[in-house]
Order: sequence, then C-alpha cells, then structure tokens
Amino acid sequence: MRQRRLGSTDVELPIIGQGTWDLPPAGYGRRQAIAALRCGIEQGMVHIDTAEMYDDGAVEELLAEAIAPIPRRSLFLTSKVVPGNATYDGTIAACERSLRRLGTEYLDLYLLHWPSQHPLEETMRAFGTLVASGKVRYVGVSNFDLDEMRQAQSYLGSVPLTVNQVLYHPLERGIERRLLPYCAQHCIAIVGYTPFARGRIAARALSGDGVLGRIAARHAATPRQVILAFLTRLPALFAIPKAATVPHVMENAGAGDLCLDDAEIAQIDAAFPIGEDAPLATL
Ligand code: NAP
Repeated sequence: MRQRRLGSTDVELPIIGQGTWDLPPAGYGRRQAIAALRCGIEQGMVHIDTAEMYDDGAVEELLAEAIAPIPRRSLFLTSKVVPGNATYDGTIAACERSLRRLGTEYLDLYLLHWPSQHPLEETMRAFGTLVASGKVRYVGVSNFDLDEMRQAQSYLGSVPLTVNQVLYHPLERGIERRLLPYCAQHCIAIVGYTPFARGRIAARALSGDGVLGRIAARHAATPRQVILAFLTRLPALFAIPKAATVPHVMENAGAGDLCLDDAEIAQIDAAFPIGEDAPLATL
C-alpha cells in the first residue's frame, strides 16, 4: 500500500483508506462489516473515515468495536461535525460525543461535513480550540468550494486547513479544474469520496472490452482498482472507498500498489472527460 504525505503535516497516509457510510448496523451484515474494516486495516488501509451523521452515531460505535483490539496510534481516524451542530459550543460538544462513541481520546482529523448555516468563523474557532486541547490533531472541511476554503483558512489563522473531502469519481471530475490545482499549490490534501460513483459507471466501461477493463487486464488488476489508481494518481489525492465485505476490501486494498502510466491515464481522461458525464453509450 503506497503512502504519501497528508497536506502540510508530517503524517504519511495510505493513498486508499476506508469509508464507513451506510455500513450495516446490526446482525450478520454488521459482523461482516467489522471483519471487513479489520481486514482493511491489516492491508494498510488505516485511514478510516466516519461522521456523527452516519446512522446517527451508530456507525462510529460500530467502528469503535472494529478498532478496539488495534493499537490506536497505528490508525488515522477522521470524523465530521454535522453543519446543524457547528456553532462554537455545538462543535466542541459534537466532537466530544464522537470521541465517546469511538472510544478514543483524540481524532486524527475533524471536518465540517458541508458548509453550515452557522458562522464559519465560530466553527473554525472551535476547531482551533479542539487542536489546542489535543482532542483533534488536524482539521479540515468537506464539500467546500475554493472561496469557502479560503475563508475557512483565514478563520483558522495559524492552524492549517489540512483536507477538503469532496466528491470525486470518473464521472465527476469537476474538482480538477480549480480546486485540485489550488490544493496542490497550498499543500492541502483532497480526500475523494464515492470513488465508484454509486453504480453510475457503465457496465461496458467496467467489462473486459471497456477502457477500464482493458487497462486492468494489462496489470492483472480489476477495473475498480484502475478507478482507484486513477483517482489517486497525483500527490494531493487520497480515496476512501467504502466496502462492507472482505472480498471488496481486499480488491480495494490491491489498488494501493497499482500505478498507471501516462498513456493509460490519457485513455481514462479521454473516456471520462472533465466537467461532463461520459458518453455512456460509447464506452
Ligand atoms: P463508494 O465507496 O464509491 O461505493 C460504495 C459501494 O461500492 C458499496 O455498495 C460497496 O459495496 C461497493 N464496493 C466497494 N468496493 C467494491 C468492490 N471492490 N467491488 C464491488 N463493489 C464494491 O461510495 P460511498 O460510500 O458513497 O463513498 C465512500 C465513503 O466516502 C463513504 O463511506 C463515506 O465515508 C465518505 N463519504 C463522504 C461524504 C461527504 O459528504 N463528506 C459523502 C459521501 C461519502 P459493499 O458495501 O457491499 O462492499
């Protein structure tokens, strides 16, 4: 599993992490999800993304069970405050609830889930307090555009804005126009979510005849591994696929060592152009 520097920090993070949205809350599905998370950690996917919003905190509790036997320092845990809670006091209280549910004394990364109706200045001031108290190591935002990011950084003062977590998959490459160059220039990491586009990538593109399938065959890899390699091809980029089963996690982890060459990147670039949905019929 390749690693790279996270933003301006001295943390080396695996390029592929693990999402947790929509993990099954109970029964066999829950047990499978816990096994999958632990398997992912064994494969080096120690960057785990969650949020207080996911099943009203139940996913944080599931994650706590999954990581209980694992040394805390070997993990990199991210959670997010829901915008409705993002006043100064609300942010501190939300973080403390997340810490309790996760059974940990600190978060590695704490994000504002999306722009909030509360003054951003308050949320960022609370983030500064959480960093100063050691409850949070790094802070960031999610679903922020460029102007909102600049504002967030101005309110954070000397505390660096480390991450913007955004939608990024082959059919949704809009971040490459302005956000990605800005983040690369300012040492801010982009953590891309929903890498598999929730089933919107045409079956043909994923098949042996499609562009992803053909590239995958050359590397003895799978089309989904090619997608993850493409989405993490630049130094600012990380991906956090969510998988609730061990086979899916193993496949996703395998992408961590896959490097595409320039010609392959150009082929994917042409098949999934920036800014508009790919012409599905011709893939
Ligand atoms: P995703 O990771 O693109 O896709 C998840 C779906 O893909 C699940 O149905 C999963 O099935 C399936 N899958 C995963 N690996 C697979 C594989 N190797 N082969 C076949 N199918 C596979 O979508 P996502 O959950 O929307 O995004 C990932 C994470 O990003 C979330 O879990 C969450 O942590 C984060 N996120 C953040 C935001 C935000 O606003 N900041 C928004 C959305 C998501 P199984 O579950 O059955 O394995």
